[in-house]
Amino acid sequence: MPEKQRTLKKAATVSGTGLHTGLTANLTFQPAPENFGIKFQRTDLNGSPIIHANVDNVVDTARGTTLEENGVRIYTTEHVLAALTGLGIDNILIEMDKDESPIMDGSSNFFVKALLKAGIEEQNADREYIIIDSEVIYKDLKNKIALRAIPDDHYNIDVTINYETQVLGEQKAQLNHINEFKDEFSKCRTFVFLHELEFLLNNNLIKGGDLSTAIVFVNRLVSQEELDRLSELFNKPKVQVEKEGILNNLELHFENEPARHKLLDVIGDLTLLGKPIKGKIIASRPGHYSNVEFAKLIKKQIKF
Ligand SMILES: [Zn+2]
Repeated sequence: MPEKQRTLKKAATVSGTGLHTGLTANLTFQPAPENFGIKFQRTDLNGSPIIHANVDNVVDTARGTTLEENGVRIYTTEHVLAALTGLGIDNILIEMDKDESPIMDGSSNFFVKALLKAGIEEQNADREYIIIDSEVIYKDLKNKIALRAIPDDHYNIDVTINYETQVLGEQKAQLNHINEFKDEFSKCRTFVFLHELEFLLNNNLIKGGDLSTAIVFVNRLVSQEELDRLSELFNKPKVQVEKEGILNNLELHFENEPARHKLLDVIGDLTLLGKPIKGKIIASRPGHYSNVEFAKLIKKQIKF
């Protein structure tokens, strides 16, 4: 029996600080009819313009996946989209009153919780899939990135990361079935290396991100003075480096949480294809740019 499309039973709101602006952003998931797909709506702008969750609308992938349609942008879409695919939601309108989604804890957890609380409802229309019937390969040799899609009877994903640093060696994560997403992946938070974080802070590129929104890997010696400055910046009484080479801002949910988060990002970015996938994805060192280029290749090579 074919599976049915799904939407929400009622609206669900998630509120929190935006990573880039530091302002409170309210995001409301609204139930939507069959074959509606996933669309964002900027309720703070005249005429409440719609931005389709479509890979052709990606305009920037530097620190998240940014969409733009008719000159209207939304930032940091990937963790919201991952939550929707992770819960098998096909049709939904995502209302936003800022140009970015709330970063929350840097994972999909809060979105998943809100969606589950509102409840998911089956619709009458059959779900249509993107069936990977031949191999699709994206390779970026210079950056040692590769993404591959191969035929399989259901959506499953393998991710390997390796940044050739001592503190974060090779890690693997595997999603065997999308129903593992909620418990095994949705809580996995984003991560940064300390030098990247300092660059972002010094250049005023992040405001809403306090120490609870990312796992911070420290891949070099850090002076006490620097740690004191960080604790001030993060408004945290004492910042120190734990033996695993991460800051004591949070406890890891899983030992391979970074690889799991990269897998979550792959799910989020591939949601921009507009339909659920049937096939296996194998990814090495994936990032938003490569995820989006890979999605475009799938769109070009696979008929759906
Ligand atoms: Zn992410």
